[in-house]
Amino acid sequence: MSSLIGDRLEEIRQKIPTNVRLVAVTKTVSVERIRAAYAAGIRDFGENRVNEAISKQEQLQDLSDISWHFIGHLQTNKAKKALQHFDWIHSLDSLKLARRLNALAAELPNKPKVCLQVKILSDPNKYGWEVRDLLADLPELDRCSNLDIQGLMTILPLGLSESETLATFKSTAELAEKIASQNWPNLKMNQLSMGMSGDYLAAIAAGATMIRLGRIIFGERS
Ligand SMILES: *Cc1c(COP(=O)(O)O)cnc(C)c1O
Repeated sequence: MSSLIGDRLEEIRQKIPTNVRLVAVTKTVSVERIRAAYAAGIRDFGENRVNEAISKQEQLQDLSDISWHFIGHLQTNKAKKALQHFDWIHSLDSLKLARRLNALAAELPNKPKVCLQVKILSDPNKYGWEVRDLLADLPELDRCSNLDIQGLMTILPLGLSESETLATFKSTAELAEKIASQNWPNLKMNQLSMGMSGDYLAAIAAGATMIRLGRIIFGERS
């Protein structure tokens, strides 16, 4: 099993530029298989549930150079735990959560790195800002000076064609450029977290800097 994970990772790495950060998404994946990915060189791991992640982190304490990425919807009552247990939060998806994280982060030694989750195509089943709402909220986000806002994250709706997929990722990159051109002092737009197992090559073609891959590394989730 471990060599299978290693083989899959080697195949994926041949397709992605070395400057694209590969986040291995380990929701529902056992610590044994996380160790196999670590042995194959992965140092960035993504989880979408705070408590599931904490339990795994406790069992993986010997692997001290892992960066943990939170990628799921974060309830405000879990915000403090998330800040304590993750290096990155990709899924900052509302002003309410931004305010909460910003208040909590005042007591931390380092600013937490976050991405703003945006819905380029509206999708009632997904969290995140609609583009228009995000643009309206930028002034207040810029004032969240305890957060290190690094860029944008997006998840595409299901069922897009290849060309729609590429176009939507490109729109995300263009939105980041537009925000960057407005020169907000506290909003960096250096990171684009986009691309999953089914669409990561299109995401990279559009400028992704971080891809989040689960099934293509670990197999289908049960
Ligand atoms: C599960 C998940 C992924 C990984 O999806 P795969 O299709 O397994 O690659 C990426 N991003 C988020 C936010 C997820 O919840």
